[in-house]
Amino acid sequence: SMFRLDGRLALVTGASSGLGRHFALTLARAGARVAVAARREEALQALVQEIEAAGGRALALPLDVADAARVRACFDRLGAEAGVADILVNNAGITVTKPLLHQTEADWDHVMDTNLKGAWLVATEAARRLVDSGRPGSLINIASILAERVAGGVAPYAISKAGLVQATKAMALELARHGIRVNALLPGYIVTDLNREFLRSEAGDKLRARIPSRRFGEMEDLDGPLLLLASDAGRAISGATLTVDSAHS
Ligand code: NDP
Repeated sequence: SMFRLDGRLALVTGASSGLGRHFALTLARAGARVAVAARREEALQALVQEIEAAGGRALALPLDVADAARVRACFDRLGAEAGVADILVNNAGITVTKPLLHQTEADWDHVMDTNLKGAWLVATEAARRLVDSGRPGSLINIASILAERVAGGVAPYAISKAGLVQATKAMALELARHGIRVNALLPGYIVTDLNREFLRSEAGDKLRARIPSRRFGEMEDLDGPLLLLASDAGRAISGATLTVDSAHS
């Protein structure tokens, strides 16, 4: 089907846990070879084994997205060992949850260096390698519903994700003539290491009470949207923001 990814090479950042880990498994099931990148290499090795045990092909790459030299080194290694990534799932991200006036300069820098500068470095490097090789590609930035609305306690995070949406649109515009599509996926709340503490707190209970379904989402909710953007099924979709939150908030 047009959603299959056989013969494609995908790079997933932040694949050592949560959504990134799930995205890597989904892409591998759809037939892609998958390079999984993050700082925690043991978790990546375990994921590679899981994908290969299921008949897929995978490769672990150490990566700190906030460091341009490490980003380049990661793509160099990917190039040497597997080739140019046709698909990027730009997923690495963090949050610092505390009231606005308690957010420090270090908190701001940590969130921005990872979610905005890091995502920018990875996406532009992926695009550079595609342009140099003359190949088409699909870049998928993992933003958040908080790119478009705010919630208490996560101001720098929401600002970083809003910036990532603008980066998505700017890249889509300039890369279209190279056959490179760039889109953003905006998931609603899904319980992972990122937010487990917050979603299980009193604030999380209040949040859930405002969600029409009274449930947080599941990682599987993102499978169809991810494959749409990654595959030929989405061949005319670029510069789009796809919200996946079951009308949550
Ligand atoms: P997790 O905390 O489970 O995963 C975050 C991943 O990012 C980890 O694999 C971590 O790996 C990686 N990471 C963090 N910093 C860096 C870095 N400097 N360099 C490389 N990798 C890094 O969170 P989620 O799975 O929930 O989040 C994944 C993405 O989805 C994030 O961008 C998040 O903002 C977004 N998102 C999540 C939602 C949710 O409800 N869960 C909703 C909307 C968006 P390591 O520590 O090994 O480097």
